[in-house]
Amino acid sequence: MLEKMEILDVEKLIGDFEVMTKDAENVQRETLKMILEENGCAEYLQNMGLNGRTDPESFKACVPLVTHKDLEPYIQRVADGAFSPILTGKPITTISLSSGTTQGKPKFVPFNDELMESTLQIYHTSFAFRNREFPIENGKALQFIYSSKHSKTKGGLFAGTATTNVFRNSQFKKAMTAMQSECCSPDEVIVGPDFHQSLYCHLLCGLIFHEEIQLVSSTFAHSIVLAFRTFEQVWEELCDDIREGVLTSRITFPSVRSAMAKLLKPNPELADLIEKKCSRLSNWYGLIPELFPNVKYIYGIMTGSMEPYLKKLRHYAADVPLISADYGSSEGWIGANINPSLPPESTTYAVLPNIGYFEFIPLKENVEEHMQENGNVSFLSTEPKPVGLTEVKVGEEYEVIITSFAGLYRYRLGDVVKVMGFHNSTPELKFVCRRNLMLTINIDKNTEKDLQLAVEEAAKLIAEEKREVIDFSSNVDVSADPGHYVIFWEISGEVSDEVLKECCNCLDRSFVDAGYVSSRKVNAIGPLELRVVWKGTFHKILDHYLGLGAVVSQFKTPRYVGPTNNKVLQILCDNVAKNYFSTAF
Ligand code: AMP
Repeated sequence: MLEKMEILDVEKLIGDFEVMTKDAENVQRETLKMILEENGCAEYLQNMGLNGRTDPESFKACVPLVTHKDLEPYIQRVADGAFSPILTGKPITTISLSSGTTQGKPKFVPFNDELMESTLQIYHTSFAFRNREFPIENGKALQFIYSSKHSKTKGGLFAGTATTNVFRNSQFKKAMTAMQSECCSPDEVIVGPDFHQSLYCHLLCGLIFHEEIQLVSSTFAHSIVLAFRTFEQVWEELCDDIREGVLTSRITFPSVRSAMAKLLKPNPELADLIEKKCSRLSNWYGLIPELFPNVKYIYGIMTGSMEPYLKKLRHYAADVPLISADYGSSEGWIGANINPSLPPESTTYAVLPNIGYFEFIPLKENVEEHMQENGNVSFLSTEPKPVGLTEVKVGEEYEVIITSFAGLYRYRLGDVVKVMGFHNSTPELKFVCRRNLMLTINIDKNTEKDLQLAVEEAAKLIAEEKREVIDFSSNVDVSADPGHYVIFWEISGEVSDEVLKECCNCLDRSFVDAGYVSSRKVNAIGPLELRVVWKGTFHKILDHYLGLGAVVSQFKTPRYVGPTNNKVLQILCDNVAKNYFSTAF
């Protein structure tokens, strides 16, 4: 346990990591043994017939691969306050609500002290590597972090998003202090009941401590971009507050107001300085280093569904390095970014072999494509044969399976990763995409990543007009035959019909998988449709998720809006300003 003000010994942390990763296979065996010993008395494992065996071979033979749906009844009983051990030996006292932005609704997953410890371990590990290249000393961090609304389950367990469970843990603050990156905002702002008000106050705190800020961060990069987009709207109001030393009346929560009152003193010089800085920027390029002259880097998850925000983030950051944070989920952590000098597009995550037991389903071998006579392809998943952590092959793609200290056994996370190399004997993974996010009508299959690449390509056409895609999503419309892809775009300003028509054609041409192209050619899939939505539409989607108990810190725009996500589809469809059909084929 860390004592307050204890500073991390980064060389020791790196040394421990090196030792552990040199022996990843054994560490995995030991980790599985510990998980099964600690939780062997739980009903779920008792029913599997392990009879005290803890070796990987018996484990794989007895325990089936599961999805969240399979475990839902067990987790529900835990949440309802079941007295006997269900999934873990020790009782679970807290439930995490995963952001649910990929499925449409938040999911319950168990959270416990062991998960908190692995959170700290991964934070410390990546910090150690980061600090070697980008040292921070007695700095403050402008962290755009927010707690969710929390509630109690029927059984009286605390339920909040995973990040909320981490932020409210007393170990979190100590860890931040130990990493010399204390949040510049008071706790009342982080836990404030209204995210818009908290965001405004985070910005204000950042400006008050502008010279001390060495780090700008959030859990996911989306929140940083959202924060600076908001800054563009409210900077004059922020300056007024600083000049007068009085908080805008828009901030209404007494706890937040009184916490901010302690920091805010009339400071006309600072207000003038910020105004001067803002007025000399061209289109807000380089805003972050201009406001925070001592910032060393920008930190947050920047891979996967966050990649589309990198362009805007780079615009605000100018030459301040962007460093992607680690790879994990509400279900458990997976890997740390130990090569912080790599740009986010090349970031990999080295798996920590002691924070869980990991298996990987090879995607090449498990999906057999059968061309049927009528031209349809069915994807026959043979019984997946996962491989162990040290058995994965460089260049191959896998689906991640987690066995955790928090009651998940052989749990299919649904993420696709690619093995890029090894650090000692532990693999370094690149995040590819969510497995279930797939645009498909008949023989075509396009993933979240394919969609992202198509949008990037088409967005180049509006970049020539100094416009950008603020956010995007997709759907397949099969209400008429043939069905077709629908791409929703929110863009930053006016773009001519001519250019948008060309964007629509470009999107259609950019899905290059053979199934799509061949279907389009024979009109088995109809012309792609680009629907441009009014500005602010994606904000409405964010607000919708916040209403469901999600939190901005963990928000990921759903890139595919399927039938399980009717409300979001409705928001998108209700806000269409213009639409175009492709003439590319
Ligand atoms: P949640 O549990 O709601 O916070 O979502 C977890 C999911 O976020 C993971 O399963 C991934 O799909 C995604 N995710 C988490 N960390 C990363 C990362 N470093 N890069 C890309 N995607 C990530």
